[in-house]
Amino acid sequence: QQLVEDLEKTIENIPNFPKEGIQFKDITPIFLNPQLYKDVIKDLSAFSRDKIDVVCGIESRGYLFGIAIAVALDVPFILIRKKGKLPPPFVGQKYDLEYGSAEIEMRTGQLQPGQRVLIHDDLLATGGTTEAAALLIEKQGGVVSQFSFLIALKDLAGEERLKKFNAEVHQILS
Ligand code: IMP
Repeated sequence: QQLVEDLEKTIENIPNFPKEGIQFKDITPIFLNPQLYKDVIKDLSAFSRDKIDVVCGIESRGYLFGIAIAVALDVPFILIRKKGKLPPPFVGQKYDLEYGSAEIEMRTGQLQPGQRVLIHDDLLATGGTTEAAALLIEKQGGVVSQFSFLIALKDLAGEERLKKFNAEVHQILS
């Protein structure tokens, strides 16, 4: 639990950002400490070792850890991007936000049908983004095997929303 303690000391809680009433967790100080970063990757890659064929990371903070997990496990990494960033061909998935909707996209042909996927992001809140990512994987015939996060905010019921995928879920902090 040294890792949990170190992360709790390092991640900054910023009240009322980006909106009144929201407490923002700033993970950027982790990157000032290479040993802590390595410990995070060690923890996250141990969870997924021998269980997945590919890592899909969610833009943009999901890339910061996702690609290192993929390299540690010697498996491919695929980017899930916000709408409008990828050249065609790509496949998209819409999802609802508090106000309005958003869309994420993936290049087609990078994920092979039947591959076991880890979906990784830095933080799970309502689960809306991660759920859309999982639907995007299933749309392409991938198997959603695992979800991992640095932080899963317990009071926002994100995990509840992911239950229907029958995948393992891991977070370092909650
Ligand atoms: P959700 O879709 O409500 O689960 O929100 C998760 C997404 O919002 C993730 O991609 C996070 O990177 C981002 N996010 C939400 N709250 C925070 C925060 O406090 N710190 C950093 N990222 C956040």
